[in-house]
Amino acid sequence: METIPTVAERRAESWREELRQGMKAKERTAIHRVEMNELDPDYRSHNNEEVNQGLTEEQALREAQRCLDCVTPTCMEGCPVSIQIPSFIKNIERGNFLEAARVLKETSALPAVCGRVCPQEKQCESRCVHVKMKKAPVAIGYLERFAADYERESGQIAVPECAPSKGIKIAVVGSGPAGLSFAGDMAKRGYDVTVFEALHEIGGVLKYGIPEFRLPNRIVEVEIDGLRKMGVQFITNCIVGKTISYDDLHADGFRGIFVASGAGLPNFMNIPGENLIGVMSSNEYLTRVNLMHAASTDADTPVFKGKHVAVIGGGNTAMDSVRTARRLGAARAMIVYRRSEEEMPARIEEVKHAKEEGVEFLTLHNPIEYLGDENGRVKHMRLQRMELGEPDASGRRRPVPVEGAVETIDVDEVIVSVGVSPNPLIPQAFAGLEISKRGTIIVGEADMRSSLADVYAGGDIVRGGATVILAMGDGRRAAAAMDEALQEHKS
Ligand SMILES: Cc1cc2nc3c(=O)[nH]c(=O)nc-3n(C[C@H](O)[C@H](O)[C@H](O)COP(=O)(O)OP(=O)(O)OC[C@H]3O[C@@H](n4cnc5c(N)ncnc54)[C@H](O)[C@@H]3O)c2cc1C
Ligand code: SF4
Repeated sequence: METIPTVAERRAESWREELRQGMKAKERTAIHRVEMNELDPDYRSHNNEEVNQGLTEEQALREAQRCLDCVTPTCMEGCPVSIQIPSFIKNIERGNFLEAARVLKETSALPAVCGRVCPQEKQCESRCVHVKMKKAPVAIGYLERFAADYERESGQIAVPECAPSKGIKIAVVGSGPAGLSFAGDMAKRGYDVTVFEALHEIGGVLKYGIPEFRLPNRIVEVEIDGLRKMGVQFITNCIVGKTISYDDLHADGFRGIFVASGAGLPNFMNIPGENLIGVMSSNEYLTRVNLMHAASTDADTPVFKGKHVAVIGGGNTAMDSVRTARRLGAARAMIVYRRSEEEMPARIEEVKHAKEEGVEFLTLHNPIEYLGDENGRVKHMRLQRMELGEPDASGRRRPVPVEGAVETIDVDEVIVSVGVSPNPLIPQAFAGLEISKRGTIIVGEADMRSSLADVYAGGDIVRGGATVILAMGDGRRAAAAMDEALQEHKS
């Protein structure tokens, strides 16, 4: 594995100094933050094309000039995988886009994915020094996406350097971002990594959850191919805990196991009518459309294309579902959320995009019952109006019912998107694994090691539904810790 120069070493390189001196800080901060080009809402709400169009070279060069190349780049403290942010941005400023992509890949297995789906506004960008100066932060996410896309489109994709094989077999359960990030880091260290995936495709939520119009599958596929080139093996249609057991993995000579099985178990509200035909989880809905391509005319998997669709919830999954429903032809696509827009966990950009695409927001409304027709198909939903009371344990103001304020709305499809729980199979199948009350695997914060000495875990199976980059950060930490433990064991 190559050694990565430190932030200070990189910053001291002569070209970086020249670049810094080439433009005054005042000139840099005077540049306005770039706006991403987007498809027109009327056009895009009828197809699956990617909404955000990426930056042009001119836009990227200009945005890169805004970065002050800080001595202490606080932006990096907000990145769970510690990307050397000013280093990749300054490479963009000097026009060396391929080198920018290489710097990104030192610490991130999926830069084209992260540049698209990370909530940068809460992470790196929230820590950018521009924010302290009351200016818009450097568009780190847009620039990350630009460099990764440039590399992919150039056809000159660099494969990270890997240490010679140690001949030690490592198993990964699940091929979502946590598993992929762990696999990449272990392959770089010279381990023989095999990823076991229950579904028939690799990528976890990146493939079956997040839709094409936000994250095209072909982009995920190229990043996975990069891991294949690094020697990572993928075995699909293999459910660890059913198809093969913990003991089988040992018998096959696996010396370490990283569990990254995610939080794919949908929650329901347990209200009357939730079993009617036409009511389903967002997990099922999105899997049909994204993984099984159910919306295309030649697909074997069907999907009901509702005309009056209600999506219950206010997170990213809810936004993805409601925007999908619009694209499948819903005349009325509604978000039903029990708090106000301010409390919505979805990214601000997703809410904005949904509104532009004609999605209705029924905030401060909570479903209490679904009513069906004589064939058992959903026809109406009864909504309780809510108001905000005192803050609850989560710090958000608690929604309280407004007495007597109930309305009935016609619907022909309801998609329930009120959170997910950890996949229960591994916790049940690995005897001796310590599990929390919420069903998550308990691990050490620093090393991601579970109560079983050779089992590490990370991502949503440890955190509950969280984010792509936190899952990837867990994968990185687990890889470092497992490597250290295996080395100690050897000597
Ligand atoms: C619709 C949707 C939109 C989202 N949007 C965003 C977003 O914009 N930004 C963001 O940061 N996050 C977003 N998230 C959250 C993010 O996708 C997750 O936090 C992240 O994918 C978690 O990664 P993971 O690797 O832990 O699990 P997952 O991505 O869930 O991957 C787990 C994998 O393990 C496999 N698996 C499970 N059990 C087994 C088993 N026993 N054997 C073998 N394989 C198994 C599963 O099939 C799956 O492929 C979104 C989530 C959803 C559902
Ligand atoms: S904090 Fe902002 S300006 Fe400073 S190095 Fe990071 S991105 Fe550049």
